[in-house]
Amino acid sequence: MEHRSLLRLAVPAVASLLALTTACTGGTVQGRPGASGLRDPYFPKAGNGGYQVDHYALDLDYDPADGELHGTAVITARAEQGLSSFNLDLSGLKVEGVTVQGVGARFNRTGNELTVRPAEDLKKGEVFRTEVEYGGKPKTLTDADGSKEGWITTEDGGAGADGRGSARARAGAVGVGEPVGSMTWFPGNHHPSDKATYDITLTVPRGYEAVSNGELRSRTEGADGRTEFAWHSPEPMASYLATAVVGPYKVTTGRTPSGTGLYNAVAPGEAAASAGALARLPEMVEWGSGRFGPYPFGTAGAVVLPAGTLGYALETQTKPVFPGAPESEELVLHELAHQWFGNSVSPKSWKDMWLNEGFATYAEWLWAEDHGGPTAQQHFEAFLAGDTAVDEAADSAWDAFPPASPPGPDHISDEPVYYRGAMVLHRIRQEVGDEKFFALVRGWAADHRHGNASTADFTAYAQEKTGRDLKKVWDVWLYGEDRPK
Ligand code: ZN
Repeated sequence: MEHRSLLRLAVPAVASLLALTTACTGGTVQGRPGASGLRDPYFPKAGNGGYQVDHYALDLDYDPADGELHGTAVITARAEQGLSSFNLDLSGLKVEGVTVQGVGARFNRTGNELTVRPAEDLKKGEVFRTEVEYGGKPKTLTDADGSKEGWITTEDGGAGADGRGSARARAGAVGVGEPVGSMTWFPGNHHPSDKATYDITLTVPRGYEAVSNGELRSRTEGADGRTEFAWHSPEPMASYLATAVVGPYKVTTGRTPSGTGLYNAVAPGEAAASAGALARLPEMVEWGSGRFGPYPFGTAGAVVLPAGTLGYALETQTKPVFPGAPESEELVLHELAHQWFGNSVSPKSWKDMWLNEGFATYAEWLWAEDHGGPTAQQHFEAFLAGDTAVDEAADSAWDAFPPASPPGPDHISDEPVYYRGAMVLHRIRQEVGDEKFFALVRGWAADHRHGNASTADFTAYAQEKTGRDLKKVWDVWLYGEDRPK
């Protein structure tokens, strides 16, 4: 089509276009720089434009004695435009070298952006392999809301009191990344909209356990006194859900009644207090599969960190991490529910966080309803009435802002995102009845399995699936500034 209109262009324009064409066919592809951020409404610099990652192969060597991490990240990605350069997100650490397609590439760093300039431009559609060699002491980030993420060193797991070795010698570490902390321990396209499969290989001193997402493919004792743990995640994962845990953990394995593999790693000092809640995990996986549809991953489990490591639990893929023994069975259920809502169906942007937290909170209400606790209706009413006898969060600031529109990045994990988010779901259930509601929940998990979805995707889907106009629910509960009544 276009070449026909070319003939009508003025002669100089034709000449320069011909020059461009010649340059292209002559081997030099005309790429342009990929964007340094994906313009997320809350974290505009998170992620990068111009490519999508298919796979991360991270080879990480960690020494708890000096806190040094050394790694190679092999990132296989597809160019979505001609690229003269592209960015990876990386915070701290020293980059020792970068190759693209096996050829040395130039790179430079500003802030959390690592800009890579391949020797040859990449063509649109090209699948290319970037290898980054890096290392140093990874840092801990403090989020806008004051919580810690990134790389966090842990104490002795409560086992120091037995007098064996110093706490330092038995220390460990954990990498967590919601919303942006994964850039402290590996370079990548750190935005939930770009999901990829992972192989995370962790090498640690003998005597330590090293745990990550997915299944343990091999555990190899090296002649050098170090042990290599090769973890494989065959299902796509958003980078904020990646984890690496190193320490003197107690590992137990098992299976759910229907055969999903379980892998729990518990800090020794937390073992007794964790046993009760973790014992219910197999049953919870089965229950979730009944309520939400098949469990989305090949493995399940949990990591219980030494108490006080973190201020929150996180739904790291296949193995949520808990900051000490889980305080309740509902917390274990909450992080498990995220495996469907957040991990399999991931947010398109950080504005869609209520789709994670509202669903995971509602799952707690459903679990209670199915196990002799308060019904979801009772939970809903308790929040409206501020009745802490039913739920201790009922008098919290759940009404402070509409869940689909947190006032800023420091509010994406606030109460309205969780509790008012769950109330949105209950309002839908009140409107459409149980049959349509549960068909909607299962359909949502199935239709967006291992993908990404936004609030607009959800509201459109809910209306289509239930055949009902739910505009009032959206206006009042999801987007309305006033406290709903
Ligand atoms: Zn949650």
